[in-house]
Amino acid sequence: MQIPFVDLKSQYDSIKEEIDASVAGVISESAFVGGRFVQSFESSFARYCNTEHCVGVGNGTDALFIALKALGIGPGHEVLVPANTFIATSEAATLTGASVVFVDIVPETYHIDVEKIRARLTPKTRAIVPVHLYGQPVDMDPILSLAREYNLIVVEDAAQAHGAVYKDRRVGTFGDVACFSFYPGKNLGAYGDAGAIVTNSGGLAQRCRMLANHGRADKYNHEMEGVNSRLDGLQAAVLEVKLRHLEKWSERRRRNAQLYSKYLSGVAVRTPKTTDDVKGVYHLYVIRVDKTSRKGLQAYLSTKGIATGIHYPIALPFLKAYAHLGHTPAEFPEAFSASNEVLSLPMFSELEEGQIRYVAETIGEFLS
Ligand SMILES: *Cc1c(COP(=O)(O)O)cnc(C)c1O
Repeated sequence: MQIPFVDLKSQYDSIKEEIDASVAGVISESAFVGGRFVQSFESSFARYCNTEHCVGVGNGTDALFIALKALGIGPGHEVLVPANTFIATSEAATLTGASVVFVDIVPETYHIDVEKIRARLTPKTRAIVPVHLYGQPVDMDPILSLAREYNLIVVEDAAQAHGAVYKDRRVGTFGDVACFSFYPGKNLGAYGDAGAIVTNSGGLAQRCRMLANHGRADKYNHEMEGVNSRLDGLQAAVLEVKLRHLEKWSERRRRNAQLYSKYLSGVAVRTPKTTDDVKGVYHLYVIRVDKTSRKGLQAYLSTKGIATGIHYPIALPFLKAYAHLGHTPAEFPEAFSASNEVLSLPMFSELEEGQIRYVAETIGEFLS
């Protein structure tokens, strides 16, 4: 049996007619950048997130950069970022001219540890970027109360968590602003790069829209310098179609996660932990294995046709990109251990129960 890590082709096959018609509409109207398809998707996605505004941008990294910049983050400021996430989260903060301050994670959830945030606060701290990693919503209440206490901006990185629910509300409405990626492999994926910023603040949405389009107020009237990071019509048309299927796909991801956890219950691995407060969307299904057996397990699964991934093999503070910060594993013990022990199993909506059972049994075979 061959089990890929993700399967974008089978998803396309299931919605081919809708996608092809939608894409053809963009081409026949030459609505390539901006235009009605982009506007339509922006309002559909805002409605989905239950926010007043959505600004489509070029990708998720730009969404974070533009949102931080629109909120006034820049040189002399510090931005708190979890030590275990994709580099885009910290990169976006650095791009504004601010300094990144990493915070260790909670081992059970892999999310930023709010208890450890306090020790990292300085008079320069301006923002926290909680990441709803692997599609699991961050426990936002403690973060929001700390942010209120210290007057910090909260930017949700929801790049992996479209539609994930925390306390009966979808992620994207808890912080001052939330950022999404529609990279093809994300839960809501375009057919190229795309991203979005959602917020309830009209003023902030307007600033983001200007920054994403050369700081332009009207044609050739620029109030400031910005960047060129606009959502294109073809991507918006694809996303509009896929958004209609997203809830069903998320439901299947949750079912797949439950099946994995069931079939792995007697196996010596740690499966994802959830609470009653959250409904995750399982962008990734990440297990924890002993660090001495991970490499062998991954190789064994590969010989059995099972693709796996590691998210992430080097925690951000230890990347060469951040060597100048001089961090040591002792400062981020949980992120350091996680990076040596996590393993992401194949996860996509179309995965079948037989495939999940096969993956779990193969893992059991290796570890027994
Ligand atoms: C994918 C991702 C991003 C960046 O999105 P791009 O669209 O690839 O630029 C940011 N943060 C996290 C957590 C991501 O997974």
